[in-house]
Amino acid sequence: MPTVRVRFAPSPTGELHIGGARTALFNYLFASAAGGEFVLRIDDTDLERSRSDYIDKLISSMHWLGLTWDEGPVYQSKRLGHYTEAAERLVKEKKAYHCYCSTETLTEGRSEAKKENRAYLYPGTCRDLTEDQEESYRSEGRSSVIRLHTPDEGTTVVKDIIRGEVDFENKYIDDLIIIKSNGLPTYNFASMIDDLQMGITHVIRAEEHLSNTPRQQLCAEALGYDLPIFAHVPMILAPDRSKLSKRHGATSVEEFYSEGYLPEALVNYMALLGWSPGAGGEEEIFTLDEMVNRFDLNKVTKTAAVYDVTKLGWMNSHYIRTYNLNKLTEAALPFFEKKGLVQSPLKEQDYDYLEQVIAAVRERAKTLAELADISDYFFLDSFDYEEKGMKKHFQKENAASYIRKAAKLLQSLETHDKEAIEALYRSLSEELGISMGRLIHPTRMAITGRTAGPGLFEIMVLLGRRKTVERLEKAATYIENELPEQ
Ligand code: GLU
Repeated sequence: MPTVRVRFAPSPTGELHIGGARTALFNYLFASAAGGEFVLRIDDTDLERSRSDYIDKLISSMHWLGLTWDEGPVYQSKRLGHYTEAAERLVKEKKAYHCYCSTETLTEGRSEAKKENRAYLYPGTCRDLTEDQEESYRSEGRSSVIRLHTPDEGTTVVKDIIRGEVDFENKYIDDLIIIKSNGLPTYNFASMIDDLQMGITHVIRAEEHLSNTPRQQLCAEALGYDLPIFAHVPMILAPDRSKLSKRHGATSVEEFYSEGYLPEALVNYMALLGWSPGAGGEEEIFTLDEMVNRFDLNKVTKTAAVYDVTKLGWMNSHYIRTYNLNKLTEAALPFFEKKGLVQSPLKEQDYDYLEQVIAAVRERAKTLAELADISDYFFLDSFDYEEKGMKKHFQKENAASYIRKAAKLLQSLETHDKEAIEALYRSLSEELGISMGRLIHPTRMAITGRTAGPGLFEIMVLLGRRKTVERLEKAATYIENELPEQ
């Protein structure tokens, strides 16, 4: 057995949330750093809420993030025999018992506790039933759950790498249900049994499970197993420190994918939610391998991490700028298709064109969706002119005639390349006695509809001579016919 064996255990009741993905990442980093093993377990014993399409999505989200696992997926639903076997053993050893209390009785107890303003704890009614009592309940057709007999006194201490020792007084822990009346195990029981039977050495999971841990430890103790080491990673909060939810934008890995984030950027960003590599702290860009080399659970903070979409955008733009161009084009293609700018399968020359467009605009986009948004004029001949650009550049004196002059000269330029076009614009501006800007700004508006973008001459080369000239002519006609004389 390796010295480190961890697991990520999502419940397939929804898409993989950024919190879950960050837990998976920390497990992955910890296992990889220690040369250990990473198991993927699917906690699917909640048969009503678990869905197979969520399992497929979870797995594809993990693949997309590049978080590979060594074993699994292991499905809890296929291990039900292990849980009943363990529970029956505990019943035999009198460490657990069948409880026949009806839902009504329990609800009554709960509402009384509420009235008296105290927390409800199961009073242990069925702890010491005789065989005869049990027999008679069964013959009445009463169903039962199995509860663990927990100690009434003393303290259960959770040893946590991130939080140190956390004490839980046993008097506040009631006899928890380990097997429900439908025969299925509860989360606490199944989870602990799996962790123990699968040789998990470190349980790294969300902080929200900290209060479950003493209950799981009591299960482990009753079964006579050694405990794994725990590490509860801090919550991820929204910028206003509320619970992160849909109203804060994308929260699931799938949503980040569809908004055009790159997996490396998301992974890099998530790693810094709660972990800081130390020494200086100003370094922020890490590849997965670099993170593996630096990751240390002792440097994960106790305090909640705050999700900051601006920072994620900054990080994503960094990756967009520095990504291998071919890989970036592959990743961006679906976004260009979605906007109707290209259609798969692309011919080789169209693919090359797309790649060149992306190379030209990649400096300016925070997401792949934005990359497609700001590139539309490279693919569409018809677009609107930006309002403020029209006022500023089209409504200037002689704008139309300057544009026509440039178009005419471009038409007969020997080579349609950046240097030649730039030289042409330079000499035309000298000839007309105007600044380069008086030519360049309306030209940009004419061929892109926008006031900002990549280098103008580069755009003109990419579009080619025919389209450039056509767009200039079209804009000149538009100015003459549609815009009132200044
Ligand atoms: N299925 C639980 C969850 O998704 C797993 C918690 C754990 O890691 O034990 O929250």
